[in-house]
Amino acid sequence: MDTWRHYLRLRLLDASAEHGPKALAQAHFDYRSRAIRGLKAPPARSERVILMVGGQYGGSPLSHTLGELFVAEAFSPLAQQRALAMLDDIKAAMRQRITQLPWMSEPTKQLALAKLAAMRAKIGAPAAWRPYDGLALRADDYLGNLLRINAWATADRLAELDKPVDRERWNTSPHIVNAFAAGGNQIIFPAGILQPPFFDARADDASNYGGIGMVIGHEITHHFDDRGRRFDAAGNLRDWWQPADAGAYQARADRVAALYGGYEPVPGVRINGRLTLGENISDMAGVQIAYDGLQRALARQRAAGQPAPLVEGATPEQRFFYANATIWRTKYRTEALVDQLRTDSHSPGRWRVLAPLTHTPAFALAFGCKPGDGMVAGDPVSVW
Ligand SMILES: [Zn+2]
Repeated sequence: MDTWRHYLRLRLLDASAEHGPKALAQAHFDYRSRAIRGLKAPPARSERVILMVGGQYGGSPLSHTLGELFVAEAFSPLAQQRALAMLDDIKAAMRQRITQLPWMSEPTKQLALAKLAAMRAKIGAPAAWRPYDGLALRADDYLGNLLRINAWATADRLAELDKPVDRERWNTSPHIVNAFAAGGNQIIFPAGILQPPFFDARADDASNYGGIGMVIGHEITHHFDDRGRRFDAAGNLRDWWQPADAGAYQARADRVAALYGGYEPVPGVRINGRLTLGENISDMAGVQIAYDGLQRALARQRAAGQPAPLVEGATPEQRFFYANATIWRTKYRTEALVDQLRTDSHSPGRWRVLAPLTHTPAFALAFGCKPGDGMVAGDPVSVW
């Protein structure tokens, strides 16, 4: 019990240090931010407070309070409509890919297609806002508030034990710029990511499919990546694969792991192909089914006698790939990049573009690349 007490005390101090007395906050910054991630100075207090309330990637317990304000200001029903239309095209593209997979047997294909059909999407914002009943905040007790918020959020989650799963629940606030493949065979696109550069209601289809469309393809594929494939159409952990198909999948996944494991973003530090495998499989298939989805949209426009024009001299296919490269633009300090390579399940942004596009024949076609060019794989790696 003593060991547990020491451990939990350490975790509590570490988790709350940045909001505590100055000496503690400074020690926490020096270690967590300066030494590990190369930051030169802590963010301004205003920025820290917004992060505390709103969270950064997944959201804090209070984040829905900020999300409600964000949605009122920045979310349009048009964005939701167009995202739904893209989702239809991209799901149809995935359906076609599964149907045509040369390495998968018919019984497994049928279950994969059933899983895809059962996949539920949440786009934009929750239908109802979460009540914060029972949470008491005090204007003169910042750290105490943080502890009360955590205690409230923990009790809120524990109260769900033994109850049926609430499939309407949003664990993430809608203002977050991120997307998720969640339990229960769900994919989630908060209003925060339905904004430029991912999505723009005034932009042409090509750039939207290359932006948020690729993210949609990525999240769909997560339910078929090396972990996601172990869950069935209802989101339950159940093996629905014919053994030979599982073996064929594994062989393809191994090629993806080897491919990314060969990249060395920082001299001496390679991408960990195993740690990042699920994300990389989802990136590779995600960009390809988004591209196929765009082709469906373009075919509809041609059929309607309104073929997509060149924009700034670029074809829709070229603009799709520009948008894809744009959404992954990222700047890292070297320390932060090394930290990401060692601990994060995502490959760094630059390689989220280079690797998938090198193995996407449509990319070479769009830009007239020749065999032997830097971004043309001789023997493209593909899982889905
Ligand atoms: Zn992902």
